[in-house]
Amino acid sequence: MTGENTDNDYVDEDVIIEKIIKFDKFENFYCAEREPIKTIVPIKWKINPSCKGFAVQRSGADGISVIELRHLPETSDDAFLVAHEIVHVIRREVDKQYLNITKVNDSILKKYTVDDMGDFASRIGSMFDDPIVDLFLMDKYGFDPAHRYINVVIKETDKNLKTPRDATDELQRFNQAMFYAQYALQWDSIKDPEALRKWHAFKRRYERKRPMAKKIGSELYLMAKENGYDSQEKQKVLFNKIGDKYTICGIKIKDILYIE
Ligand SMILES: [Zn+2]
Repeated sequence: MTGENTDNDYVDEDVIIEKIIKFDKFENFYCAEREPIKTIVPIKWKINPSCKGFAVQRSGADGISVIELRHLPETSDDAFLVAHEIVHVIRREVDKQYLNITKVNDSILKKYTVDDMGDFASRIGSMFDDPIVDLFLMDKYGFDPAHRYINVVIKETDKNLKTPRDATDELQRFNQAMFYAQYALQWDSIKDPEALRKWHAFKRRYERKRPMAKKIGSELYLMAKENGYDSQEKQKVLFNKIGDKYTICGIKIKDILYIE
């Protein structure tokens, strides 16, 4: 939903990778998963200081994947996030396991913008896909997502929790609920007791400050666990279940966003 870019905005993949190839886990990942498909699945890389997270990916208007980074990667956490975005691209372009949200109901655009809906759609995609991506990186390449969950996600979210109430806006509240559900699914793969103690303490803080988001988020989490979400087919079924149960502006979510 961002404007298209000229080729000048892009940096060569090697410029990105040479910063983080020194991390063994990343090197193992990159050589096995990315190098063999580098020419058949091109990625355009872009440094964008106003990028929402450290890294995001999308399919560009020309069908070529784009990964944007806020700055050149430096740390092992950055390397983990670059690997994370590459796995998203592989799931979409190679495995074809990607929930494609193709259209937005016009009536929702009376209250929200196209960008809001793009953000909403990508949050749904992340809720289903991020736990799978992180589990893959942890199991197969020994990455440590808990390090980032604690040092970045919990820290950043705690800052937002200083506003001690649920969002009044329905979309914002549902986004918060999806964040909670996604995060709970991601934590399910973590076994380290010390890390888990921090997660459980965070859950209690979250429940105090965001009772509605926590309640809906827990429902979404349970729906995902019961339904499963590790294939595109299961994700479609889950999307329809969620979309049938929850509304925004009185419209069922399955009638707001349409999947392919
Ligand atoms: Zn992701």
